[in-house]
Amino acid sequence: MITGAEPYGRRFRTLRVSLINTCNLSCVYCACGQDEMRDHLALQKEKALPASEILQIVECLHGQLDLQSLRFTGGEPLLYKDLEFVVRGAAALGIEDIAMTTNAVLLAHLAAPLKKAGLKSVNISLDAISEETFFKMSKRRGLDKILEGIEKAGACGLEVKLNSVIMKGINEDQVLPLLEYAFDRGLKIRFLEIMAMGHLHEQAEQYFFSRSEILSLVETRHRITPLHRSPAATASYWQAQDAGVFGIIANESAPFCSDCDRLRLDSFGNIYGCLSSNNPIDVRKATQPQELNNMLAMAMAQKQTLKFTGSELSMMHIGG
Ligand code: SAM
Repeated sequence: MITGAEPYGRRFRTLRVSLINTCNLSCVYCACGQDEMRDHLALQKEKALPASEILQIVECLHGQLDLQSLRFTGGEPLLYKDLEFVVRGAAALGIEDIAMTTNAVLLAHLAAPLKKAGLKSVNISLDAISEETFFKMSKRRGLDKILEGIEKAGACGLEVKLNSVIMKGINEDQVLPLLEYAFDRGLKIRFLEIMAMGHLHEQAEQYFFSRSEILSLVETRHRITPLHRSPAATASYWQAQDAGVFGIIANESAPFCSDCDRLRLDSFGNIYGCLSSNNPIDVRKATQPQELNNMLAMAMAQKQTLKFTGSELSMMHIGG
């Protein structure tokens, strides 16, 4: 088993698996241009891994890292046709926490079978509670399907959290409505600062809405108290008196690189130790445990120590 010793004492304990690098929404901060999308689709057909191969890689990584948590993501993981099979296979490996990040457009009918297959929790991306702003953010209609997906996921016993990327000039007016939506249903919600990724690599600053701006908005309605941050957590949390708990994932204002435990696997079999890294490491080339260990050490060396430095890769490709 690899201990992954490195100057900050970080270890990989969480694996994010991007099953597919396409999506049924076209969120302004994530989706790339149409040409690039066509290239992605072509690439997808050519090289995307079958479910059995993904499970083989996950098993090898788990053997080396003793993973505590595995999160399926994408692209949109609900578009991956063998999702149930992969979830069942991952759960059978004995990984404690099997989770998924999804836009929930297709979740209403899939929540129960996925729960049965071994899924424990879902993080659902919801950037607006008004149909008009939802369209501005995602370029698609269908907010009602997502809200139905959220209800069904909770009803079948999945733990549900909401994630909302907040962009200046586009959806900051949704912070309070989203918060009340979550509080009314007893759900945890996390607001995300925009990250300079993909086509926004050079322009994210103009849309940046900071953690302190989010907190100021929340404080217009609630008295809040900060909560203790768990090690390796992406979000810091606050308790809103007489309401509920909310979090902020502040990559820029409050970076969390120094105890990051995340490893990413993309849908072509490449691992990445850090969102800031564009350098894929093809784990399918490892034929011996020692080669895999060397690759994991390379991935660990990709980790930043201070903060996310930006990436030309979209989250849709590397897996959010
Ligand atoms: N399709 C799924 C979904 O919508 O949740 C999973 C993939 S999506 C890339 C995963 C997460 O990445 C979402 O919560 C999304 O909001 C976040 N994300 C993508 N690009 C981002 C960016 N540039 N800055 C901040 N968050 C981003």
